[in-house]
Amino acid sequence: MNVNNNIVISEHVPLHDKNWFATGGPARYFAAPTTAEELQEALAFAQKRDLELFILGKGANILISDNGFDGLVIQPHLKQISLDKEQSLLTAGSGVSMNDLINYCLNHHLIGLEEFSGIPGTVGGSVFINLHYFNFLLEQFIVEARVIHKNTCEIKIVDRSWFQFGYNYSRLHSEPYLLIDATFQLKPADDLMIAYAQGRRDEIIRHRQARYPTQKTCGSFFRNFFDHEVTLEENNGKKMIYVAYYLDKLGIKGQLQVGGAKVSHQHANMIINLGHATSNDILELARTIQLLVQKNYGIIPKPECQLIGFKEYPLL
Ligand SMILES: Cc1cc2nc3c(=O)[nH]c(=O)nc-3n(C[C@H](O)[C@H](O)[C@H](O)COP(=O)(O)OP(=O)(O)OC[C@H]3O[C@@H](n4cnc5c(N)ncnc54)[C@H](O)[C@@H]3O)c2cc1C
Repeated sequence: MNVNNNIVISEHVPLHDKNWFATGGPARYFAAPTTAEELQEALAFAQKRDLELFILGKGANILISDNGFDGLVIQPHLKQISLDKEQSLLTAGSGVSMNDLINYCLNHHLIGLEEFSGIPGTVGGSVFINLHYFNFLLEQFIVEARVIHKNTCEIKIVDRSWFQFGYNYSRLHSEPYLLIDATFQLKPADDLMIAYAQGRRDEIIRHRQARYPTQKTCGSFFRNFFDHEVTLEENNGKKMIYVAYYLDKLGIKGQLQVGGAKVSHQHANMIINLGHATSNDILELARTIQLLVQKNYGIIPKPECQLIGFKEYPLL
């Protein structure tokens, strides 16, 4: 289906090949805009037909219903990168992959983002969740961005504070805006610093590959707890907020399995698709884990993974 000669809207498009779990049914409609104008056209298409919308990045943090998504899936292919060398400011489209962005930075003598090396995802998905790795949060690098309102298609420029970033949170969760592009403040680096940063990138990737599964998973399935949700304290008197701590103690790592979905032998908070899992298998497994944690610790872990296309919330 062609709208306005620019944006192509396709029907009944498979999504299992567009997400990291490699499960889920098709999209009723699908568009991959390459410019902000095409994005506006896709939004107008959905608006006119009163369609539900989902914005897809690389699908590295989502689980799609086996019934698919009965609306319009927009996967922004906004891949432009521009650089203000003097100010060390870099603007990247929401469809740019984080790993491509990191390589671009290192090739242009800019450092900072390499701390996120090896994490799959686009700029859009990463701003949405405020990408995190140990002490680093993506918000630390963001200065401004362009966002578009899903209903009015109005584009505005916003600064970092607009996003109200928190752990696993940005305003994009709760308000009808999509990211078009984001501008990052980076640090200029000489040859020696770049060599060090490249080494750091390679070391982080090596470390991640040794410690975590890298395929057919969404990374951490459950988010860490907030302080107020837990009572257990570490020796230093701090609250034990790490969900993996509780999951490890249950001994489910590499053991618990439902259909083709299994808890990774490398990490207790990572569910993997053994190759023949359905999204329902993954959900059944996640629910079993929730019940085990609830029974043993009186708390219920909540998903970090976004659940897409479900008519009713499928977890506890
Ligand atoms: C092996 C593996 C390891 C991982 N390790 C980490 C890690 O260390 N740290 C970490 O934080 N995450 C990690 N993740 C999760 C994932 O990499 C991040 O959440 C990533 O940012 C997801 O990006 P994406 O483009 O794939 O988003 P998707 O999964 O496609 O979408 C995620 C959410 O972002 C929204 N979104 C996407 N684009 C836009 C946009 N343009 N505007 C508004 N909303 C948008 C979607 O609607 C959806 O709600 C890991 C995942 C995997 C598979």
